Amino acid sequence: MVLPFEHELLTDFNIPENRRAFEAALEKVHAELGRDYPLVINGEKIFTKDQLISVNPGNKEQVVGKVSKASKQQIDQAFEAANDAFKIWGRVAPEARANVLFKAAAIARRRKHELSAWLVYDAGKPWDQADGDTAEGIDFLEYYGRQMLALAKGQEMKQRANEHNTFIYQPMGPGVTIPPWNFAFAIVCGTAAAPIVAGNPVLLKPSEYTPVIAYKLVEILEEAGLPKGVLQFVPGDPAEIGDYLVDHKDAHWINFTGSRATGIRIYERAAKVQDGQRFLKRVVAEMGGKDTIIVDQDADLDLAADAIVNSAFGFSGQKCSACSRAIVHEAVYEEVLEKAVARTKELSIGDPSEGNVYMGAVINQKQFDKITRYLEIGKSEGKLVYGGEADDSKGFFVHPAIFKDVDPKARIMQEEIFGPVVAFAKAANFDELLEIANNTDYGLTGAIISNNRAHIERARYEFQVGNLYINRGCTAAVVGYQPFGGFKMSGTDSKAGGPDYLKLFMEAKSVSERF
Ligand code: NAD
Repeated sequence: MVLPFEHELLTDFNIPENRRAFEAALEKVHAELGRDYPLVINGEKIFTKDQLISVNPGNKEQVVGKVSKASKQQIDQAFEAANDAFKIWGRVAPEARANVLFKAAAIARRRKHELSAWLVYDAGKPWDQADGDTAEGIDFLEYYGRQMLALAKGQEMKQRANEHNTFIYQPMGPGVTIPPWNFAFAIVCGTAAAPIVAGNPVLLKPSEYTPVIAYKLVEILEEAGLPKGVLQFVPGDPAEIGDYLVDHKDAHWINFTGSRATGIRIYERAAKVQDGQRFLKRVVAEMGGKDTIIVDQDADLDLAADAIVNSAFGFSGQKCSACSRAIVHEAVYEEVLEKAVARTKELSIGDPSEGNVYMGAVINQKQFDKITRYLEIGKSEGKLVYGGEADDSKGFFVHPAIFKDVDPKARIMQEEIFGPVVAFAKAANFDELLEIANNTDYGLTGAIISNNRAHIERARYEFQVGNLYINRGCTAAVVGYQPFGGFKMSGTDSKAGGPDYLKLFMEAKSVSERF
C-alpha cells in the first residue's frame, strides 16, 4: 500500500549540522563542475561537439557543465524511438509506471542536498530556494505517482440491465516537454514526470540556461528503472529546434512553461495540423505573471510588509508568482512602504555558491539587461525609494528595488520584469484596490492582506487569479496543497500539482458492452 501524500519538509539552515551538510554538497558539486553531458535518444548517450555552456550566474567565468545539443535529425530519431516505446510503455500497468516515480523520488531524496547544490551553481539559487526547488520536484514525483493510481480506476458509470459501461483514461502518445530555467529541477520533474506516468514517452528540451540539473533528473529516472525510449533528452538552442519540436507531426501534446511570448507562439503553431498528423495537439502553456498583493486598511501591517518583501525578492523576483505590485490602501500606504523598505535593507546579496545569502545573481546577461532597463523606466514612472544598484562585472547582481507612487497603468505596473523590482501604488478604497489588482493582462497569483471578512470574501471571487492567497505572500505554492496555474494571459490554468493535471495528457474512453 502507498502512504498518503505528504509534502517534503524544507531544510532548516539555522541548524549547524544542516549547514555543514549543504557545504559538503557544494564542495562535491564544485569538484564535478565543467564536465560534458550527453543528449539521450532511446537510452543511448550521445556526445556532440556543438554544446550548450552553462555558467554560474554569480560567477560567470565558472563553467557548470557543457551539454550536447540535439540536431533536427536527432529529434526525428527521438520521435521514432518514442513512438516505438509508446507501444509498450502505454500498456505497462499504471502501478508499475507509478513505482518508477516513487523510486525516483527516493533517489532524489537521498541526493537532495547534492541536487540543490547543482541548482545553486546552474541557476544561481540561494540555499533555501534551491532546497525548496528540489523538495517540490520530489513532491511532483510522489504526487503524480499517487494520482496515476487513482486515475487507473477510471470513473464509475451508470449501469443498466445487460449492459456494462466503463470510463477509462488512456495515454495520448509521445509529446514534448519545454520547461523554463527558474525551477530547473521542480518544473522539469513535474512537467516530464506527469506525462510519463500517464503512459506517454517524452522528449524533454530543457532550458538552455539550466541543462545540467535537468540531466540529473534523466540520470535519476534511468536509475529508477524507466525503460529506454520513454524519456528522450534533447537539449538545444530554441531558435534552432524549438519550432521543429512543436511543429513535429508526432508531437501529441506540448507541455510548456515559460514566457508569454513563447507560450503564445507555441499555442498558435501547435494549432496547425501537419502532413501525416492524425490528431489535434494539446497544448498546456503556463506563462508569465504580474502578481499583486493588496493591503487593506484593516490589515496586519507587519504581515503585509513581510509578505510583500519575501514574495518580491525571494530568488530575486525570478518566480512567475513573484509580487511585483503592492497596492495599498491610502490610510496605511506610507507605513507599509516604510516597513517594507526597512526589511529590504536587511537582505543579504552575494554568490550563493560561496555562502548562505538571501539573494543571488539573476540568471543571465539578457535578464540583467532587461531588469536594468526597467529600473530606468521605473525612475521615469515613479520614485525609487530604495535599492536598484546593479553590477555585472563578476556575476549578474541586481539589488532589490522599491518604487513608490507609480500609476497603476505604468509599464512597471503592467509588464513582467522577472527581477527584484516591486512598485507601490495607493488606492482610496477596497473597490479600487480590487480594480487595480485586476487591471493587468495576467492572472497568475495574488494575495490580499486584510482583517475585514467581507472584503476577504469579495476577493475570493472577484480577484481574477488562478492562485489567490489570503493573509500570506503570493509565492510558494505546494504540490497537492495549492495546485498551480494561471488565468488570462498567464496560461491554460493547468493546475500543476493538482488532481486534474494528469488528465491533460490522457484521453478518456467510454466503453459499453451489451450482454
Ligand atoms: P522562455 O519563454 O524564454 O523559455 C521557456 C522555455 O521555452 C525554454 O526551455 C526555452 O528554451 C523554450 N523556448 C524558447 N523559445 C522557444 C520556441 N520558439 N519554441 C519552443 N521552445 C522555445 O522563458 P524563461 O525565460 O525560460 O522563463 C521565464 C518565464 O517563465 C517567465 O515569464 C515566468 O513567469 C514563466 N514561468 C511561468 C510559470 C508558471 O507556472 N506559470 C512557472 C515558471 C516560469
